[in-house]
Amino acid sequence: MPAPPCSSCHAARAALRRPSSGCALCGPCFCAAFEAEVLHTVLAGRLLPPGAVVAVGASGGKDSTVLAHVLRELTPRLGISLCLVAVDEGIGGYRDAALAAVRRQAARWELPLTIVAYADLFGGWTMDAVARSTAGSGRSRSCCTFCGVLRRRALEEGARLVGATHIVTGHNADDMAETVLMNFLRGDVGRLARGGGLGSPGEGGALPRCRPLQFASQKEVVLYAHFRRLDYFSEECVYAPEAFRGHARDLLKRLEAARPSAVLDLVHSAERLALAPAARPPPPGACSRCGALASRALCQACALLEGLNRGRPRLAIGKGRRGLDEEGPQGAPWDRDRARLPASESIPTF
Ligand code: SF4
Repeated sequence: MPAPPCSSCHAARAALRRPSSGCALCGPCFCAAFEAEVLHTVLAGRLLPPGAVVAVGASGGKDSTVLAHVLRELTPRLGISLCLVAVDEGIGGYRDAALAAVRRQAARWELPLTIVAYADLFGGWTMDAVARSTAGSGRSRSCCTFCGVLRRRALEEGARLVGATHIVTGHNADDMAETVLMNFLRGDVGRLARGGGLGSPGEGGALPRCRPLQFASQKEVVLYAHFRRLDYFSEECVYAPEAFRGHARDLLKRLEAARPSAVLDLVHSAERLALAPAARPPPPGACSRCGALASRALCQACALLEGLNRGRPRLAIGKGRRGLDEEGPQGAPWDRDRARLPASESIPTF
């Protein structure tokens, strides 16, 4: 059976049926609609004011590739300037190839690129070293916990290096729904209380962050990359199979099969979620070491590094964290005089 005509231009044959709306569209009309929706998200949420210098957290993966491409298309209408900031976590056999994709994108799109490395920022710690430290050998289930916290800080450092005023990350609707599920499954009231939202306004001196693809499904992100013929890196991180996120992803896929709107329903429910006053965590204070927003004596990044440097990495995770805060810092693994970063999100990808 021949494809139906595109329901937008009525000239070309449709190349796809949009997962979000069911509309039959040709490739160019789908891409135009996708870009218009991202523009609407940015404008309606007042995410990126004219004149903003925007650092795109670039991983070489599909989400950040699509985000950088779409924002580059929208740059004249938004009146912003773009740069790419990539983080080298130090994951052998994975990150080098992903960074090569980021370098190709920067060259093709003529965007400035800055790469910051965990090893330089965190006293020589790479993710491979963290994995060895946390598991004794091989892959560790807690790798992504460390990586998500450290990457958030590394991205902030990189963005500041290039004089950015805003940070954008490529989280799509599926990522956000997985995070909501994970927070529920862990009973993480603090993160649930922060809700979904399109980002953070820059509390505690941190740069404002936002997620312009937050309402775009993963399927549509892949379709956009396909029709725009974008070059991206698609291999999975060597530590990903151990991540708790994988369980949330599997559950979400099953929910979506029964209820196609489950992903966006979860994203929107997190935005509107209101906790009873007694369940809300106390307002954060400042990390006693770096001045970042922190709900305890040390922010998450300083606590994780403290545990690693003491050779007791699990001290900083879960209940062991209390002991670390009570003991207080012992020597500074890094000494930042700027007080700025918020407590980290649990989202390990950008
Ligand atoms: Fe870091 Fe992502 Fe790899 Fe986890 S899966 S270790 S968060 S890069």
